[in-house]
Amino acid sequence: MGQDNCIFCKIANGEIPARTLYEDEQFRVILDQGPATKGHALILPKAHYRDLFELPEELAGDVMKLAKKMIIKMREKFKCEGFNLVQNNGDLAGQTVFHFHLHLIPRYGADGQKIGWKPQEVTPEELEEVRAQFAD
Ligand code: AMP
Ligand code: ZN
Repeated sequence: MGQDNCIFCKIANGEIPARTLYEDEQFRVILDQGPATKGHALILPKAHYRDLFELPEELAGDVMKLAKKMIIKMREKFKCEGFNLVQNNGDLAGQTVFHFHLHLIPRYGADGQKIGWKPQEVTPEELEEVRAQFAD
């Protein structure tokens, strides 16, 4: 199921070396080479799916189960205080490698990182319009 020229296919399937924290039949968890913080890791399915839209539902569930297992162990080992889970879909959303991956980002006091967004002002009417658009 590897896709030619996909770096994460090659890493997940062991053709290109990476710092592996965990591996099983379905997944490899590696250290990000440009970490936001110490221990920043990526869950990679071994099979190629571009993003969450393509990822089969069952595998999506397995990703989150593995994320839970991983952050419990990482918290113990790295002594971090919190975690951000980040998952980008599409280049507009900041995805740069088009093989599904989930970022596990340990957070430490005063780690100097800011992961998030700028909250926008919105009126109750605007919120209602969005809700109605989705419900249509
Ligand atoms: P995203 O922007 O969500 O697509 O994230 C891609 C992430 O993959 C970035 O945080 C990169 O630092 C990381 N990355 C890219 N290539 C490698 C690699 N060969 N080994 C480890 N991490 C990588
Ligand atoms: Zn791939």
